[in-house]
Amino acid sequence: MDSFIELYRAGNLMEANAIKGALEQDGILVRLLGEALGGAAGELPIDSQEIRLLVQRCHLDRAGAVLRRYQQNLAPWYCSDCGEQNDGHFEVCWRCGGESGN
Ligand SMILES: [Zn+2]
Repeated sequence: MDSFIELYRAGNLMEANAIKGALEQDGILVRLLGEALGGAAGELPIDSQEIRLLVQRCHLDRAGAVLRRYQQNLAPWYCSDCGEQNDGHFEVCWRCGGESGN
């Protein structure tokens, strides 16, 4: 019931902490593993900055949803009405007010 499994591998500590924060806002317990943290020594190559995010198995589905939401918030999207590119944090097109259609 307490087993942690890998949810995601972040390319750097900043990304890992941002995702960790989003998960914790949702009440999901997160563990970070990686060379840059000074923990889990010897598990990863010495030059690796990759950070592994672990969540409890029972939270995996919910954590996956939070992760997808986080990634969608970063990715720009294109308005299906006018074709304008919008930053990920806009919910409607800044130009014509159309919705992303996602
Ligand atoms: Zn538009």
